Amino acid sequence: MLIELMDLVSNTAMGTAQWVWRNIVFEVPWSQNYFWGLTLISLIVWTAELVFPWRKEQKAFRHDFWLDAFYMYFNFFIFSIVISGFYAVLTKLFLHAGLTMESLSIVDLSQWYPVAQLLLFFVVLDFLQWTTHKILHRVPFLWRFHQVHHSIKEMGFAGHLRYHWMENVLYKPLKTVGVMLIGGLEPQHAFVVHFFTIIIGHINHSNLRLDYGPLRYILNNPVMHLYHHAYNLPKEHQHGMNFGLTLSIWDYLFKSAYVPERSGKVKLGYKGDENIPTSFKGQLTHGFFSHR
Ligand SMILES: [Zn+2]
Ligand SMILES: [Zn+2]
Repeated sequence: MLIELMDLVSNTAMGTAQWVWRNIVFEVPWSQNYFWGLTLISLIVWTAELVFPWRKEQKAFRHDFWLDAFYMYFNFFIFSIVISGFYAVLTKLFLHAGLTMESLSIVDLSQWYPVAQLLLFFVVLDFLQWTTHKILHRVPFLWRFHQVHHSIKEMGFAGHLRYHWMENVLYKPLKTVGVMLIGGLEPQHAFVVHFFTIIIGHINHSNLRLDYGPLRYILNNPVMHLYHHAYNLPKEHQHGMNFGLTLSIWDYLFKSAYVPERSGKVKLGYKGDENIPTSFKGQLTHGFFSHR
């Protein structure tokens, strides 16, 4: 049994590594190509930042630019290779217990219009992520991992994917549950939703003064998310505010929205951020030791 599981882990990791390679050498089409999709979205948002900067004094290669650029590819590809084998084991255990995608689904979308399927999947997923994000701020043990993302001192698009690898571990099962609850979902929908969330996430962290006018009550935006990273928290939001990922509506509905002004001049970080390691290697183990 153990040998079988170890085989499963190594085969899945190899399979994921091959998938990453097929992305890089463009054997995967644009519509599903995370590597080049992520790279293209990054270049577009970066160019927009350089042409229309919100904080004009911010350099093109801002503080920690390269660290964040590395995080982008690490979290998306390198870490997925490492973790994929363990997820394969989990899935096998689930199947062993008689739990399948079909047995868990509470709504069956297969008869719905594709646009409606897509919308429901996106909204459910976003709400689950909003909830998880709020929990990351509330639970001290989890907050220590999330500190890596909040150690950003100057905001730019690549900051979007600076986060501790434990966040992958925490978010991924939730996403899987979301997909499982909604039966009959077409896989290509996941790509559309994921690319849309990468675009909005990049924009939210960019040096662009965008808030989409009245749409800001639905869609998260750079002005709102900058305050999520504020060093000084207002009295009424001591555990943080603006937890939205792609949608801002949850923060407005549940009274955690806070956008006092739009100058873009907000001190970023969190109390105690001087203690976080500045290198990627140091941040890998951050959160596991209580003295930090
Ligand atoms: Zn946060
Ligand atoms: Zn952020």
